[in-house]
Parts: sequence; C-alpha cells; structure tokens
Amino acid sequence: MSKLRPDMHVKRIADIDLDYLWQLGIRGLVFDLDNTLTPWRVYQPNLEIVNWFRDLRQRGFAACILSNSMHGRVQQVNEWLDIPVLGNSKKPLQSGFCLAKKTLDMEAAQLAMIGDQLLTDIYGGNLAGFYTILTDQLDDKEGWGTRHISRRLEKLIRKICHR
Ligand SMILES: [Mg+2]
Repeated sequence: MSKLRPDMHVKRIADIDLDYLWQLGIRGLVFDLDNTLTPWRVYQPNLEIVNWFRDLRQRGFAACILSNSMHGRVQQVNEWLDIPVLGNSKKPLQSGFCLAKKTLDMEAAQLAMIGDQLLTDIYGGNLAGFYTILTDQLDDKEGWGTRHISRRLEKLIRKICHR
C-alpha cells in the first residue's frame, strides 16, 4: 500500500515547488500527459504550461513525457514543449520508467514522476524508486477504463490509506 502514496500532492503542476525538488537532488522530471499537462486527448498544451516548461529548463532541470497513449499521437506534444516524448509506455510496468532513466541519463534518485493517477503514475514511479508527485486531474473527460475502473479503485485506495 505504501507504494500507492505520493511523496507530494499538488493541485496543478505550476504549484510544484521547483526549488524544493532541486534541494532534494532531483534533476529530471518525468511527466504524464493526459489530464496532467493537457486535458484528455488534447495535444496542444496551453501557454502557461509552455512557459512553465521554459522556466524548468532555465533552472537546469531535464524533462520528458511518459504516456500510456499511443506514440504517434503524443509525439505532437514534442513540437510544443521540445522534450522527449515516450508513448505507449504501459505504466505501471517498469519498462517505461527504465526508458525514461536512459533517455534523461539519470539515476532513479534524481528523478521525479509527476501524474494524475495513483495506479499508473504514482505506483509505477514509486516502484521505480522515483520521487512521486500526484496532481489533480485537469479535466473530467477521460478514457472508459480510467473513468470506470481506475478512478473507482483510486477512491477505494484513498479511503483505505487515509481512513
Ligand atoms: Mg493521466
């Protein structure tokens, strides 16, 4: 159960304290896409997000996207954020997290996983040894499986964990 607990919980990615992460020794940020950076199936981040990513890089952080969506679709985001996009990643399976480590050329202890889902982003990130940051979902719209299965499980987990 402890692997389902994020290290940090924020409303939106702009609320992440980047100075604090830097102090922890984190140098690479791995982002979920759907409902973390953009609403579900929207592949054009808004200007606020684009500017936030610019700030991120100026501070010296490296970043990439790790999404369970198909590779071709999520690749469009690369044009806006100019960071590596790893699609079809099958989180929480560890292969995607290994690929993120290789892509950013960093150890797990230097990496944070940021996403809106406990069962994929947080659970997988914790298993990989990443620092984990849970965000609120950007929008109500999401895939059938997420809406009817994952979110119900998440509610149950939250009840059990927080009693
Ligand atoms: Mg998501």
